Amino acid sequence: MTRPLIDKYGRHVSYLRVSVTDRCDFRCTYCMAESMIFLPKAEVLTLEELDQLSSAFIARGVRKLRLTGGEPLVRRGIMDLIKDLSRHLKSGALDELTMTTNGSQLATYADELARLGVKRLNISLDSLDHQKFTEITRRGRLEQVLSGLEAAKQAGLKIKINTVALRNFNEDEISRLVAWCGSEGFDLCLIETMPLGDIDGDRTEQYLPLTVVRDRLEQEYTLIPSDHVTPGPARYVTVAETGGRLGFITPMTHNFCEGCNRVRVTCTGTLYMCLGQEDHVDLRAALRSGDPESLDHLLDEAMLLKPKGHDFIIDRKGQKPAVGRHMSMTGG
Ligand code: SAM
Ligand code: SF4
Repeated sequence: MTRPLIDKYGRHVSYLRVSVTDRCDFRCTYCMAESMIFLPKAEVLTLEELDQLSSAFIARGVRKLRLTGGEPLVRRGIMDLIKDLSRHLKSGALDELTMTTNGSQLATYADELARLGVKRLNISLDSLDHQKFTEITRRGRLEQVLSGLEAAKQAGLKIKINTVALRNFNEDEISRLVAWCGSEGFDLCLIETMPLGDIDGDRTEQYLPLTVVRDRLEQEYTLIPSDHVTPGPARYVTVAETGGRLGFITPMTHNFCEGCNRVRVTCTGTLYMCLGQEDHVDLRAALRSGDPESLDHLLDEAMLLKPKGHDFIIDRKGQKPAVGRHMSMTGG
């Protein structure tokens, strides 16, 4: 390895999230507007460029790579990219290659993902009610995701369910989700909505602080603080009654930036040092110039730009989002 990626606060960047597409087969209401305009294909990095870019980070000490989107499994040729990237698992340069997915395509791809060395998946699921599921995703079908989940389970993949806690929508289902995940052997991670990109509705109506959710869950379950740590931002407890692991991602009520080891690249090759700030470096031109040194140099520059943290606020009605880009652009 050459020089590791260390930012000006001494944080070692060892985790890269790569958004392989901004497109998605769903339109979750907290994530996108109904009529999203997606990027023209020419702006999106090719699979070869995505490989080259990820490999440049791995050469600088990134040990964990998460593919995300948009929906990564709707990107044409995605399995070829995963196959290529899996060489870094075989060589030992990478500890983990994972993915965040909405699960809609997993019935087709779960086996192959497992064969290529993917061991864990984060799968987003905000409701176990068929009608509500279609309502929140605007076009998803719960049955399809449940069969994807079953396929992933059968393929031996470890599953973490990501659920965005939404006021007046799934708050009454969270207890059921805890029980269901416990019985299925899935970890569950609850997420607060973040003000990223314009959506059709008002986020103040969706925002549900996880402090409230946790207090409610504690009426029903014994939540034992866990020392389980992942490279992600979640804080974990063990649910005594189910034995399951429950994580809380609380960007709004508890800022987790001090330990941040992550950076994100969009599908156009823009490197964002923080999900909630605008600081970025465009890597696409350097990538397309074919000069590995200029890319390397940009990574050094980027480390100086990594901000101390985000400053998300959701409190006033009609407020502008903290950053204009959607989560589907930066990659969750
Ligand atoms: N399509 C894939 C999926 O849904 O898992 C991957 C991309 S999606 C942007 C990644 C994660 O971001 C999902 O778990 C989703 O629920 C979450 N997400 C999207 N918009 C969000 C927002 N505004 N606030 C909090 N989480 C958000
Ligand atoms: Fe698509 Fe994921 Fe955003 Fe839902 S959260 S619209 S599945 S990118």
